Amino acid sequence: MSNLVIPAPKQITIPIHGSDQEFPVRRVYCIGRNYAAHTIEMGFDPDKEPPFFFQKNTDNIDTTGEFPYPPESQDVHYELELIVALKSGGSNITEAEAYNHIYGFGIGLDMTRRDLQGVCKKMGRPWEIGKAFERSAPMGKLTPMSEVGNMEKGNINLTVNGEVRQNGDLDMMIWKIPEQIAHLSKFYDISAGDLIMTGTPAGVGPIVKGDKLIGKIDHLETIEIIVV
Ligand code: MN
Repeated sequence: MSNLVIPAPKQITIPIHGSDQEFPVRRVYCIGRNYAAHTIEMGFDPDKEPPFFFQKNTDNIDTTGEFPYPPESQDVHYELELIVALKSGGSNITEAEAYNHIYGFGIGLDMTRRDLQGVCKKMGRPWEIGKAFERSAPMGKLTPMSEVGNMEKGNINLTVNGEVRQNGDLDMMIWKIPEQIAHLSKFYDISAGDLIMTGTPAGVGPIVKGDKLIGKIDHLETIEIIVV
């Protein structure tokens, strides 16, 4: 018998590639401006900035393959990103220990209401309204690190309606995966179930209803999204 006064919110999970198992999600951390060419396209200097993170809500994750164009925006952008999924955590994790905490990897999209984010930036306000809205984190299946290795390099590319829009390599990340884990764990008690969205290469841009997005990263299961 439950003593909850309302029904418990659903545990958000992501499917595991080649299996009927699921990964339960606790938190979603996202790094900003982590590829130099993308940093420059957003109008910033890639050499001068320490890493910074924002968060999406766990229940913004969507694995249906459909992305409903969200309300109150006329400029919604895709950002294709490698996702790191943690199987354990802690605080003050060293870069040398970081990989011991990784369960596996996946492909995700950091969908962004760019117009609303732009207002937040200009006014010095938090970014949630531009970043952490319903279904703003489409994700594919996760693959265990035991099958794909440490994902330090590999092509990452996104097509929209068959046309290449983003094309880079994971080795172009400014802050590498172990650095991201070490940095986050200085500020938070990171934990099993946490995801890190590791930033997007250059080429972000707007979508419209009907667009078909296909995101690929070497060794990982492709993600396909239709904008509805
Ligand atoms: Mn992003």
